[in-house]
Amino acid sequence: MRQKLVAGNWKMHGSQQMVTSLLKELLSKQAPNARLLVFPPYLYLSQAAELLAGSPIGVGAQDCSQAEEGAYTGEVSAAMLADLGVSHVLLGHSERRQYHAETDSQVLEKAKRVLAANLIPVVCVGETLAEREAGATAEVVLQQLTAVLEGLSLDELKKVIVAYEPVWAIGTGLTATPEQAQEVHALLRSAVAKVNKELAATMLFLYGGSMKPDNAASLLEMPDIDGGLIGGASLDADQFLAIGKAAE
Ligand code: PEP
Repeated sequence: MRQKLVAGNWKMHGSQQMVTSLLKELLSKQAPNARLLVFPPYLYLSQAAELLAGSPIGVGAQDCSQAEEGAYTGEVSAAMLADLGVSHVLLGHSERRQYHAETDSQVLEKAKRVLAANLIPVVCVGETLAEREAGATAEVVLQQLTAVLEGLSLDELKKVIVAYEPVWAIGTGLTATPEQAQEVHALLRSAVAKVNKELAATMLFLYGGSMKPDNAASLLEMPDIDGGLIGGASLDADQFLAIGKAAE
């Protein structure tokens, strides 16, 4: 049985004050049985890690450098994130792919750094609207996943989490139907099964794209949807916790 995971990607939102008030609100309210994880901006990671220390809510980073260390101005390494007490790192989010031209091979290199730092990579895959309309969804998401499946060892892959985020559903209010999401999740899991059946049975596949309290339960009850990656709704404690409750 895969325990559901509900992760909040705060993107470039927040302030020191907001981090404290949102996290204190999450901690003070009835925690769901699902695992919760938040991805604040880099600047607030140590504040978040301190506030959440000893709590069941984990802290992740939204990205990391492909390089180990050195002359890479503005970059943050996986080892630095581990040093802060972060447990997960989001990789290949569509906004990184779109605005920073991040490629599958860079996502793989970053995943290797994250794993070397004993952190868990959460690798995002997803098709654009044009790709879906052209009937290329399967091809696109399998190509993105394959880069990671082929580049990592079985032991490394055991730590990887995959997030399916149709680009057309991110921040748009449009959500994949539970059936559309399940279809892609099942396809991704079957690709993993070709590498190793046990790995496919245990790997977590999160759905992301305008998941809200009112649509979360129908998505999360699908057999291959193991949790959610939540953007907008994770900035509101009640909405985030309601999604966590739907994942129980
Ligand atoms: C995301 O940022 O990964 C995301 C899914 O955002 P939203 O929930 O706002 O669509």
